[in-house]
Amino acid sequence: MVEDYDVLIVGAGLGGLALGCALVSNGRKVCLLEARPGVTRSKRGLTLQPNGLAAVRKLGLLDRVARIGSKTAMIAWHEIGKKPLATLDYSILDHPHNHLLTVVPSDLELVLREAFSSRGGIICESTSFRDILSNRSERVLVEAERNGSPVMFSGRIIVGADGENSRVRQALGIPARVKKYPDHFLLMLAGPVASLQLEARQYVARGNMAGFFPTRDSTYIFYYLPNRTVAEFKLRGIESFKKQLAEIEPDVSDSLSNLGSWGDVAGVSARRVDVKSWVSERAALLGDAVHALDPSWAQGANLSLQDALALTNTIERCFELNDFTAAKLKDYEKERRKQTEFVQNQAERTALFTTTESRFYYWLGKRVLQRTGRSKTLMRTALQASCGLTDHFSLREKIRFIT
Ligand SMILES: Cc1cc2nc3c(=O)[nH]c(=O)nc-3n(C[C@H](O)[C@H](O)[C@H](O)COP(=O)(O)OP(=O)(O)OC[C@H]3O[C@@H](n4cnc5c(N)ncnc54)[C@H](O)[C@@H]3O)c2cc1C
Repeated sequence: MVEDYDVLIVGAGLGGLALGCALVSNGRKVCLLEARPGVTRSKRGLTLQPNGLAAVRKLGLLDRVARIGSKTAMIAWHEIGKKPLATLDYSILDHPHNHLLTVVPSDLELVLREAFSSRGGIICESTSFRDILSNRSERVLVEAERNGSPVMFSGRIIVGADGENSRVRQALGIPARVKKYPDHFLLMLAGPVASLQLEARQYVARGNMAGFFPTRDSTYIFYYLPNRTVAEFKLRGIESFKKQLAEIEPDVSDSLSNLGSWGDVAGVSARRVDVKSWVSERAALLGDAVHALDPSWAQGANLSLQDALALTNTIERCFELNDFTAAKLKDYEKERRKQTEFVQNQAERTALFTTTESRFYYWLGKRVLQRTGRSKTLMRTALQASCGLTDHFSLREKIRFIT
């Protein structure tokens, strides 16, 4: 038996869920295929920025999402054990959402899932996409697997929102370049800290970086170290790590007791994905499947939310014209590609400064940060870019950051 839908979305991560919500709001019959059996509580936080918050507002979910997160307008940057470097003030942005909102991503998934289901969307959990059997006729025929058995679905179009290792991308034969960064991040949620409700804090040293961001009822901590040092680092034990965190940010000392073992800490290495095309016949890709990026700008999920809205508009036009060809779907890629490549490139450049072991880049990074902190014009330029509100720097702006 084949289950028929208007749109099949593979992957109920933030991008796939946002796309699903927007399409079901337009009355489309949508099915999300998700390999995981359900939502498990995240061990990390996720920061929504002005571009992502604007997308959430367009989905009609801003009030609900605001309730699960913690708002911050300031990030204070310090050199570890030394002086403050700069305080970045997001309220200087001329934007209706000129702040950050840090959430626990599984809480955000639950809000999006609830909105999707209440608008009539179907989520098939424990269902892994396997292959596209045909996309040359009126409908795309898809094979998935549930509890070891094959299940078949069909749709007018399929969307791969299945992350950086996208199997949909592979099934479509779209070539991708995957670059592994030498960076590793330890991510965790500690207890709440009152002083961090006023400002998030980020600390840097050569080859080391740590961030402390408030969520609604915890503190999201991320800690960078080079990939090659992870095993040795962990051998020193979780208590030694907690001592180090407390030395970097003394205000968290009393909030680390819930971190009992390395099992309470998530670890992830970053990758960049670049693809030749975001679309194919009756098929499109979004989010990390097409533009996974270095996390230093905290933009991946924000960009996925923007992708979801742009793709919804294009898919609606496809329905109106009854035209799901790659040529028509290309409108979506044209709208999104420039901004995402800009953010990928700039995030990679920022990482060169903030997660570097090189003396020269570390010195240069500090200089850029200090200059940015001192000048409102530079700060506005930098934040507009890192908040996903522009897709380029002018030559003049580039020069002003370093001279
Ligand atoms: C250290 C770190 C920190 C980050 N911090 C931030 C941040 O603060 N802000 C931000 O905006 N971004 C951040 N990001 C990036 C962000 O997490 C991702 O860009 C975002 O989650 C991508 O969403 P997505 O929906 O495209 O993919 P994913 O979240 O990867 O979702 C893909 C979904 O597809 C499912 N799936 C995969 N294969 C199949 C299959 N064969 N069949 C069915 N389902 C399948 C998966 O189970 C998953 O649910 C960070 C990334 C890292 C590495």
